[in-house]
Amino acid sequence: MDQSNALHTLPAQPRDFGFFIDGRWEEAGPRAIFERTSPAHDRVVTRITRCTREDVDRAVGVARAAFEDGRWSRLSGAERAAVLLRAAAGIRGRLHELALLETLETGKPIGQSLGEVEGGAGIYEYAAGAARALHGDAFNNLGDRMFGLVTREPIGVVGLITPWNFPFFILSERVPFILAAGCTIVAKPSEVTSATTLLMAEILAEAGLPDGVFNVVTGSGAEIGQALTEHPDIDMVSFTGSTAVGRKALLASAGNFKKLGLELGGKNPQIVFADANLEDAADGVVFGLCFNAGQCCVSGSRLVVEKSVAAQFEALVADRIARLRIGDPLDPRTQMGAIVTEAQNRTILGYIEAGGREGARLVCGGGALASETGRYIRPTVFGDVTRDMTIFREEIFGPVLTISTFETLDEAIEIANDTVYGLAASIWTTNLETSTQAFRRVRAGRVWVNTTIAGGPELPIGGFKQSGTGRETGIYGVEEYTQVKTVHIALGRREPWVA
Ligand code: NAD
Repeated sequence: MDQSNALHTLPAQPRDFGFFIDGRWEEAGPRAIFERTSPAHDRVVTRITRCTREDVDRAVGVARAAFEDGRWSRLSGAERAAVLLRAAAGIRGRLHELALLETLETGKPIGQSLGEVEGGAGIYEYAAGAARALHGDAFNNLGDRMFGLVTREPIGVVGLITPWNFPFFILSERVPFILAAGCTIVAKPSEVTSATTLLMAEILAEAGLPDGVFNVVTGSGAEIGQALTEHPDIDMVSFTGSTAVGRKALLASAGNFKKLGLELGGKNPQIVFADANLEDAADGVVFGLCFNAGQCCVSGSRLVVEKSVAAQFEALVADRIARLRIGDPLDPRTQMGAIVTEAQNRTILGYIEAGGREGARLVCGGGALASETGRYIRPTVFGDVTRDMTIFREEIFGPVLTISTFETLDEAIEIANDTVYGLAASIWTTNLETSTQAFRRVRAGRVWVNTTIAGGPELPIGGFKQSGTGRETGIYGVEEYTQVKTVHIALGRREPWVA
């Protein structure tokens, strides 16, 4: 048995968290408390402060002062990189503590949490390099009398709003890039998964990040999230969450025309051509469906498979689903854990019912998985799905797969693109021409060929259509948090305008 298993047990007592402003923990004091129950164990595991609007104002004021006095924004890339590298080491040093809290609050398998926390550390290491690589441009082609420069400056104070599905990983896909750019941050995690964001504030402080550069306020989206998107002293909001709330953030941000980065929902196709390695493709489709119990913005929830192999492929998928290990996320062998909240559970079950009601054919799954504690859903596959069905059109955010069939590449692309979303797509084929035609024509910000939900921080992520605007990670992910300044430098004596 892995010795670290002893570190991954259900704690006897819930852990209390204050919030984090100006490099220090703040106690909840008289504020209300949100008790978070483990989705797998029905036990209160964390107690999170419900901050007030006054707390938001104070955090923004602190972040503004930290930005304006240059304690971070005017450091060199090398100095910022040193902090980010120490933060990466700090994450690795608290790997098990972070992973356990992540699993207790989200219900995801502990093995997955460990991978996400380690992956997060790697992103800080990548972003440390990006802090030093960030640069502008020079124009030496304007003739003898003019020289041009384009510089990149940090955009300012960033409000960072994150969802519950990958609390630590999504935070890590944003924070080190925002910091690499020289900005300061007020973060608001999802109210049900705040713990690892709060711990990250402590890790950053211990890594030498100056006080006030990274602040965390906790509480509900309607109150604390809304206060950030409306705030007149925030220059940019990076919002990751549902398309419906993203729309609210867009409207709220209009007050001071703050820049808005939106990473929203998806209804992502898995396009499988008959010439694909069907065993590999079936494994990838099941992974893309069941990873994080389908609560994944890039979940491959629509299978679009060539008709000649559809029956065979459906059987391969169902066979793999039957062999999945679903259950207690603290068991290191578990592949699929619990559903995050009772509300999300009801939503997913409602979609499964709608699939049956609207005439789709149930291939496997079809409801809840019995368990002594917690809530689990059996991965569910529907065949004979038509494009007007709710389960084809709406983001379910659970382990529910629809199957559509096609006969030509044109038809495959038309079905794949028949959605308001454009977040991700996967293409399975051994034919180079087919894959190239398909990835060029599919309307999505991220495309995988012969794999799914893979990659590292080098490549940018973001959506087309109603899946969002802006890009995170990669060098694009640092540039996102900068603004461009153009400098025109005249050389020689001025040609008089006034005679
Ligand atoms: P959500 O939209 O309900 O909440 C996201 C965050 O917004 C939370 O912190 C929430 O408290 C906050 N919020 C809620 N109301 C708000 C308001 N009025 N103003 C400001 N903030 C508010 O999303 P969720 O249920 O936490 O996460 C699931 C959704 O996130 C799915 O739609 C999924 O596709 C999407 N998502 C997208 C990406 C991506 O990179 N594109 C990644 C992960 C999740």
